Amino acid sequence: MNDVIIIGGGPAGSVMGSYLSKAGIQNVILEGQNHPRPHVGESMVTSSTRVYKEIGFLPILEREGFPKKYGASWHEIGGREAAIVFAEFPQEGIEQPYTYHVDRGKLDLLLLKHAQGLGSEVYQGVQVKQILFDGDRAVGVRAKLGDQEVDLRAKMVVDASGRQTLLGRQLKLKRNDPIFDQYAVHAWFENVQRGQPDTADFIHIYFLPVERGWAWQIPITDKITSIGIVAEREVFRQYKAEPAAYFEHYIQTNQALATAMAGAVRANDYKTEGDYSYAMDKFVGHGWALIGDAARFVDPIFSSGVSIALYSAKYASEFIVESFQTGDFSAEHFSVYERKIRAGVGVWYEFIRLYYKLLPLFTHFIRSETHRIEVLRLLQGEVYDRGEVPVLAAMRQYIETVEKNDRHVFRKQLASLSIDDLPMPE
Ligand SMILES: Cc1cc2nc3c(=O)[nH]c(=O)nc-3n(C[C@H](O)[C@H](O)[C@H](O)COP(=O)(O)OP(=O)(O)OC[C@H]3O[C@@H](n4cnc5c(N)ncnc54)[C@H](O)[C@@H]3O)c2cc1C
Repeated sequence: MNDVIIIGGGPAGSVMGSYLSKAGIQNVILEGQNHPRPHVGESMVTSSTRVYKEIGFLPILEREGFPKKYGASWHEIGGREAAIVFAEFPQEGIEQPYTYHVDRGKLDLLLLKHAQGLGSEVYQGVQVKQILFDGDRAVGVRAKLGDQEVDLRAKMVVDASGRQTLLGRQLKLKRNDPIFDQYAVHAWFENVQRGQPDTADFIHIYFLPVERGWAWQIPITDKITSIGIVAEREVFRQYKAEPAAYFEHYIQTNQALATAMAGAVRANDYKTEGDYSYAMDKFVGHGWALIGDAARFVDPIFSSGVSIALYSAKYASEFIVESFQTGDFSAEHFSVYERKIRAGVGVWYEFIRLYYKLLPLFTHFIRSETHRIEVLRLLQGEVYDRGEVPVLAAMRQYIETVEKNDRHVFRKQLASLSIDDLPMPE
């Protein structure tokens, strides 16, 4: 009998393994693929540093020379640029004014090895087929080992299977977001002109002239830059699901992006990503918990995914450690974890939907002396344990003003959905 089985060796699973191993709790990570494997999600937010520091992973990030990310920059279609630097808003417990851009194949392998070094038992190429239950209590997993299926028992099962959402699908907990049916096409390129030297290694976000359309530019190495185009799935369909044509077209719709890509040469195949955003009805149950993308996924516009994976692993691990002290593995015990993560991701979600509702408002707030620091606080991932988030209330209020005034300078740029139509975050 194992203490904890963790399904998935992405950032959520490896960080969960690391915390549990540090607390002396035996755990097994079952990863379906063999690392290194490619993965989308290459730019991080600064709050991640706190978790990396706690599990002793920061020296590895430094040693490996991942590009340092000191800030972010947004390019409007008309050519205006708004940038932030993280140094402007120092975060408690974080000494460095930067985070990292990462080749996820490399990062995820390093994290998995780190968990193993701390004591997690890691098995790669082992696909979990289902979670086993005794009544409502999770008691283990059924996994595919070569040609055979074997049952492995555990006191606690953590699903960190990412957008595979293994347990969510098994228990039919998954609810797709009614608004964000986004689709991404992305690839790595050489020879991208990353812009002025002082912001060349920032993440660059380019607005595109379709609702909820944007592009990312993320430095992966000195030579390689990741470029992704995101829009509603319907927009992609109009290009007969042909990634190259879709990509080429939208590159040309923002002049700054077209300039950056003028001499670019593609270095790997186009990849596509759909199936977001969503939430599970429950994140916890008797003897089980969902972390990272297996629990909830919000649109990646603010590079929040890895940090949510890390924090959900950290917070869930605290409750699991307690369970091994008290013997209480009940859903009630884990419900505090669920509330905490729902509230934190809810802040991200609200920020994202207001952003999409009125794009110029975002750059307006970044430039505003009153709101700038509060926007930075969110962009840097400080979303947990917050009661009120006044800057979101201010954004909502501003949008209402624009909605009521036909002659407002931003009126034409309001997205078609009424603010009241959008679902409130849980
Ligand atoms: C278009 C797009 C852009 C994004 N950009 C960013 C970004 O810039 N920054 C950012 O922070 N995030 C970004 N994200 C989100 C980010 O990719 C995820 O939030 C992050 O990878 C979540 O980590 P995770 O550990 O929960 O899941 P994953 O990283 O997906 O790891 C899950 C692991 O579980 C394994 N697995 C799955 N099923 C099984 C099974 N049945 N048995 C065993 N193993 C299994 C998988 O092989 C995988 O290794 C983006 C996402 C998308 C779609």
